[in-house]
Amino acid sequence: MNAKPRLRHVKFILPALTEATSPYWRPIKYSLFPPLGLATLAGHLDPDIAVTLQDEHVETLDLDDHPDLVAIQVYITNARRAYQIADHYRARGVYVILGGLHVTSLPDEAAPHADTIFTGPGEDTFPRFLEDFAAGRPLPRYDSTTRTLANLPPIRRDLIKRRLYLVPNSIVVTRGCPHHCSFCYKDAFFTGGRTFYTQTVDAALREIARLPGRHLYFLDDHLLGNPRFARDLFRGMRGMGRVFQAAATVDSILRDDVIVEAAAAGLRSLFVGFETLSQSSLASAHKRQNLGRSYAAVVRKLDDLGIMINGSFVFGLDGDDRDVFARTVDWAVENGITTATFHILTPYPGTALYADMAAQGRIVTHDWDLYDTRHVVYRPNQLTPDELKRGYDWSYEAFYRWGSIARAASAHSSAKHSLKHFFYSAGWKKFEPAWDFVIRVKQLTQIRPLLEAVLAPVGQPTPDGSAQGESAVTLSV
Ligand code: SF4
Repeated sequence: MNAKPRLRHVKFILPALTEATSPYWRPIKYSLFPPLGLATLAGHLDPDIAVTLQDEHVETLDLDDHPDLVAIQVYITNARRAYQIADHYRARGVYVILGGLHVTSLPDEAAPHADTIFTGPGEDTFPRFLEDFAAGRPLPRYDSTTRTLANLPPIRRDLIKRRLYLVPNSIVVTRGCPHHCSFCYKDAFFTGGRTFYTQTVDAALREIARLPGRHLYFLDDHLLGNPRFARDLFRGMRGMGRVFQAAATVDSILRDDVIVEAAAAGLRSLFVGFETLSQSSLASAHKRQNLGRSYAAVVRKLDDLGIMINGSFVFGLDGDDRDVFARTVDWAVENGITTATFHILTPYPGTALYADMAAQGRIVTHDWDLYDTRHVVYRPNQLTPDELKRGYDWSYEAFYRWGSIARAASAHSSAKHSLKHFFYSAGWKKFEPAWDFVIRVKQLTQIRPLLEAVLAPVGQPTPDGSAQGESAVTLSV
């Protein structure tokens, strides 16, 4: 990497998502993970360059400085704030670069607010930009085409203010996903190159070894997406004494015994995209990997391994009628789903879903602040927008009622699992003032050992599939 001394101070900023600034936000939801992508990019800078990393979700931004370069990560619901910050720095004569999901989807919208924009992942383009910048000829736009995680410099984890996050040990060892769901950003973000690729297993294990404590959270879209990589990774992790959380698809859980290897390596909770109980809705969302799979079998397999489930569900697909909310919540409770994340279907720009909806004239607003999966921004098929919004709100309320928590907890085969389910689910959703207090006094560090203890297995699941006692916790984000 050739960045020359012209860069003395680089500042990376993650502006707050609009929903995180609402009076109704749950501060804990936005104090979970540090901005890992920005810390990864910072790894490309020469060590003699001063680097600042600020995350507006957990700290007040200092905007009264004069770095040589400001890099801002743009999501759809922080776009307005990102552009405001970008304009502020550009007015001060600071060189501003913008990248991320929203910039990739709508580069023309972002470009007037930046000196340079980036589309797609930045592993190949950011180093190229730094060279061009040092040579005095940076381009206005860089489009990622070369997709590899080989020879990445170490992530600048020293820039992460660990005490401000519940889960500072977040980690990503793959990029993208092998599937193509029509509502997902993934295809739009990875256009122009490979859409799924992994680190080497050795590099992933080295990164894991750098992380203190026991708990890890893999933020990969689909940690089991490449079975060979995942199996080797989990075998390499066995004996490291880790407990971890991750995300994977329905088919990958049923496909083979990789999930068993994962449990043996310390997997204790899994985010699973069930999305809908309707086969026709799955087909319309191009979620083929879920089609014809038994969700009950997924739940049983994970339950037997002592892995708790954070189930993801989407409301407002074209096949959804007024009964979809009760049907979904009943299923989740009866099957002992630990935490649920409900979403209102959201046609993000750049996705196949958006193109379809736009062609049908069904997009009703382009106010990106509302594209947070909690608002209805399109015309649903069999529901009114109001029915959809009310059904979504009701689903959260119904799933996290005391009675539902108790019923879902009692669905597990082991009493220990039931107890942990009950206390975790209640602790996560029913003690908001306590979470707020811990965040306000910046004491999340004190909670982490508790999280690790709750995740710690009572007995180790073995690769033959039997779990001898277990515990798990999942964070519903
Ligand atoms: S499986 Fe998940 S990450 Fe992959 S394309 Fe579908 S929604 Fe996106």
